[in-house]
Amino acid sequence: MAEGKSRRVAQSEDLSNVEFETSEDVEVIGTFDNMGLRDELLRGIYAYGFEKPSAIQQRSIKPIMKGRDVIAQAQSGTGKTATFSIAILQSLDTTIRETQVLVLSPTRELAVQIQKVILALGDFMNVQCHACIGGTNLGEDIRKLDYGQHVVSGTPGRVFDMIKRRVLRTRAIKMLVLDESDEMLNKGFKEQIYDVYRYLPPATQVVLVSATLPHEILEMTSKFMTDPIRILVKRDELTLEGIKQFFVAVEREEWKFDTLCDLYDTLTITQAVIFCNTKRKVDWLTEKMREANFTVCSMHGDMPQKERDNIMKEFRSGQSRVLITTDVWARGIDVQQVSLVINYDLPNNRELYIHRIGRSGRFGRKGVSINFVKTDDIRILRDIEQYYSTQIDEMPMNVADLI
Ligand code: ADP
Repeated sequence: MAEGKSRRVAQSEDLSNVEFETSEDVEVIGTFDNMGLRDELLRGIYAYGFEKPSAIQQRSIKPIMKGRDVIAQAQSGTGKTATFSIAILQSLDTTIRETQVLVLSPTRELAVQIQKVILALGDFMNVQCHACIGGTNLGEDIRKLDYGQHVVSGTPGRVFDMIKRRVLRTRAIKMLVLDESDEMLNKGFKEQIYDVYRYLPPATQVVLVSATLPHEILEMTSKFMTDPIRILVKRDELTLEGIKQFFVAVEREEWKFDTLCDLYDTLTITQAVIFCNTKRKVDWLTEKMREANFTVCSMHGDMPQKERDNIMKEFRSGQSRVLITTDVWARGIDVQQVSLVINYDLPNNRELYIHRIGRSGRFGRKGVSINFVKTDDIRILRDIEQYYSTQIDEMPMNVADLI
């Protein structure tokens, strides 16, 4: 949190003018001052280093505050987390210690990140916010929830468990936020979300947030949302303007490793994330990089939570600069110094591509992504290019100058 409070704004471009496609005339509020936020919250926002709301914030905070069901879609790194965090904080009654808002996310790291943002923005509000995630001590979870939490930010499995045990009481919940909502409503999670949803009071406000929201998912929303306001960016604008995308033709799998080693100096200019498609591959690549005396860290979903936490901490603090990981890291994680993303393997679907490369170029900063492309991957790359109407050029020699 201490890192770059003032830089946060100075280095970012103005994101307030992005063009939006919305379901009705949504009010645009150009300053935090004019949003009708409580003083302690405003103080928290400015102390955190925000000066001006981003486009999605200008449009979405107010409707969420007013209690409307909202679907908010904007590209990665444009301040969606802060959007719902601010609206949540505004809607809390901190004089009662009951859970009033539940935020669900697909990964534990994301749930913790959201908890931290809420606590930071709510620094002057005396807010209790708990991260309720798998892989942590059950007793500790129960103790924290028993104490009373205004906001719970969690992953669906653990949250449902706590609800069933009646440790997480749902009677005062008035808002449910699904972050990365397309992922949350996908096959793997959908049932779990409905399980949780069934325990919430019938009038619970629902807020969906994501960078990508395929049509099937949008159609589903009528089942549990009432007359939602939709604030959507057009697909073309999801190409992550400001992130330069390149490919390296590696021909064969075996050539990827040497290519990566050649790029190592470039990786460490700021910080870099390398994506592989499987956990085994992450382990293998980490091992191999270390054997070749490169310093790297790695993370995936099979590691114990403690280890995952430590790796996140080190990476966030900048102690480690190169992270090898799976798609568990692709969504939502915000480390501002990451300016380079490498797809060691091309992702298995188009949505993941946007989420992965969105780890760089946060809040309008510069970012570069490099795709390792085998001969038979070229088709996939062209497909991504077409789908997002974007251009992925061959990596230039001076790529380091672009970071
Ligand atoms: P998203 O959820 O859309 O991926 P985040 O909410 O994580 O984006 O925001 C991306 C980065 O931009 C974060 O580091 C966040 O602190 C910063 N940020 C968000 N809103 C603002 C703002 N209004 N002014 C300055 N920085 C902001």
